[in-house]
Amino acid sequence: MLKEKKKKQESLHKRHSDLAMANKQLEKLSNGIFASGELPTFSEKIKETDQFPLRPNKLEILQINVGYMCNQVCEHCHVDAGPDRKEIMTRETMEQCLEVIRNTGAHTLDLTGGAPEMNPDFRWFVDEASKAGIKDFIVRSNLTIIRANKKYYDLPEFFKSHNVHVVSSMPHWTRGKTDKQRGEGVFDLSIKALQELNAVGYGMPESDLRLDLVYNPSGAFLPGDQASMEKDFKKALLEDFGIHFHNLFAITNLPISRFLDYLIASENYEDYMYSLVEAYNPAAVKNVMCRNTISISWDGYLYDCDFNQMLELKVASKIQHISEYNEDILNNRKIIISQHCYGCTAGAGSSCQGAVAN
Ligand code: SF4
Ligand code: SF4
Repeated sequence: MLKEKKKKQESLHKRHSDLAMANKQLEKLSNGIFASGELPTFSEKIKETDQFPLRPNKLEILQINVGYMCNQVCEHCHVDAGPDRKEIMTRETMEQCLEVIRNTGAHTLDLTGGAPEMNPDFRWFVDEASKAGIKDFIVRSNLTIIRANKKYYDLPEFFKSHNVHVVSSMPHWTRGKTDKQRGEGVFDLSIKALQELNAVGYGMPESDLRLDLVYNPSGAFLPGDQASMEKDFKKALLEDFGIHFHNLFAITNLPISRFLDYLIASENYEDYMYSLVEAYNPAAVKNVMCRNTISISWDGYLYDCDFNQMLELKVASKIQHISEYNEDILNNRKIIISQHCYGCTAGAGSSCQGAVAN
């Protein structure tokens, strides 16, 4: 029991699990039911509607992962983040990112992690980046970090002073479901953090201080309808805790990293891949987030999306690092795909901004 509890507090990397290695995950996603032809590969599927190869549209979002360290160790985490991860973006790489932010055609900057706030240069970076005049400046905050340590208590004010758009995970409005997925005590700390964000104006009905929540399923199933879930979340959080927020994004768990580990351990992998393939929606392909996003890793490498980053699939371009960034050349690339991409095209589709098709 104790061993099981300890395991839950460690990343796959720390546990030296096979699935900590990207090539092992990619092997799993290419073999078995896909190699035997029982299910079509993602490329075969998108060929049916002449959408292969997948290519980018106009770049709109720069998503920067400033490090894999996190104060939580959520069961489904596609980053395999946790307190034991030491990969952190240096100020030198941040400087290179700033150069790109100042010159990009993208209108949205999206900082993620891990818990991005744990990067020692996080505040300096937000200060500098906010001067670049980007229209929508998102920070993905896991909420509990705001209550994790005194040094983070003023984060709501800090976000407000930089007009940051806060996007936070909240898998359910009940303690049981949230804590099961994200760890004991996460629900209570998240509620407290949401109340503090509300207190400075975040998420209030007429406020320009944007506060959006992210829902992802707590097991091997697909998310329900985003609009009706948003209504349920709003009602429950307001009635039970007086909490307001703006939008709810429903995100499908992609079969990589810790969620893949969970699927295999619970013997749900094949059934889950079947449900993703059965729910494949060709209309979602045109809006998958790799078509308008570039993802930058803590060490400055470029990827089609945060998922490809975790699978170590760098962009298929002669430009692969932020130090040599060239938007025109990058926009000519082909996007790298594999079977995990079915997670972005199931049902209403899924991206960091929630559903992508109706
Ligand atoms: S899902 Fe988010 S909060 Fe949870 S461990 Fe991963 S990065 Fe941290
Ligand atoms: S996983 Fe990444 S590359 Fe694949 S469809 Fe989704 S956003 Fe695109």
